[in-house]
Amino acid sequence: MSGIEGKVVAITGASSGIGEATATYLAAHGAHLVLGARREDRLNAVVDRIRAEGGSATGVVVDVTRREDLKRLTDRAVAHFGRLDVLVSNAGTMAISPFDELRQDDWDAMVATHITGLLNGIGAALPLFRRQRSGQFVNVASTAAYVVKPPQAVYAATKTAVKVLTEGLRQESGPDLRVTLVSPGFTNTEGVGKGASPEAAAAVIRQRDEIAMPPSAVASAIGYAIEQPDGVDISEIVVRPTVQA
Ligand code: NDP
Repeated sequence: MSGIEGKVVAITGASSGIGEATATYLAAHGAHLVLGARREDRLNAVVDRIRAEGGSATGVVVDVTRREDLKRLTDRAVAHFGRLDVLVSNAGTMAISPFDELRQDDWDAMVATHITGLLNGIGAALPLFRRQRSGQFVNVASTAAYVVKPPQAVYAATKTAVKVLTEGLRQESGPDLRVTLVSPGFTNTEGVGKGASPEAAAAVIRQRDEIAMPPSAVASAIGYAIEQPDGVDISEIVVRPTVQA
């Protein structure tokens, strides 16, 4: 039995990209999945495909910026599978733009999705993990949490916050919980350039098409952190294409 088989894993942002690839990888290794995202049609398509391939999954429409939605996600895990072993906080938006464009709604969305969204997940899962005396948080940051490049400052700041919150949570988590930060580099997903200003989008899409790694590379890194034996915490993984500086 692998260290993934039988585990109950909730994933936010599971309707596409890294979240979908992670769901696919974990389902193939025998996890029970609770998948969350806002686009119901895309989410249902992922759930249906996983079930058709023999996997175990259920979907919950979730906006991570809403506290009650994360509670519904973790409640579904308990109602459906009896417990929650891992929460993968992956939902994100890469709406990058230069400061001068004053895209303040996009700034707010990145703060709300990456920071408030992560905290909402912690708020929903931590009491459950404490009651169970076990559980794992896997938080998806970015290589942008390590280096800021224009015009990504707001995105990088929110991903730096993910990194700091994850390390702080790890330090407070005690011996029963595991806390993992996974920071991908350029990954070939539909999210690259989505919502970004046209010039910024063109630049990152060009880079994505030249150097990006497949989302399955991030999925297997997340799987590696999950499959470790109890008492072993993979605290931090940075995974990037070899050609990314
Ligand atoms: P995608 O756009 O494919 O995936 C983003 C996912 O997040 C979607 O499933 C989307 O679903 C979901 N999402 C966005 N906002 C919300 C919200 N408010 N509530 C719930 N779900 C939400 O892009 P990626 O797979 O690339 O991104 C996944 C994560 O990886 C993000 O956190 C991103 O910052 C990070 N990342 C990506 C990199 C890359 O190069 N692709 C590099 C480094 C990090 P829906 O719209 O249906 O809600």
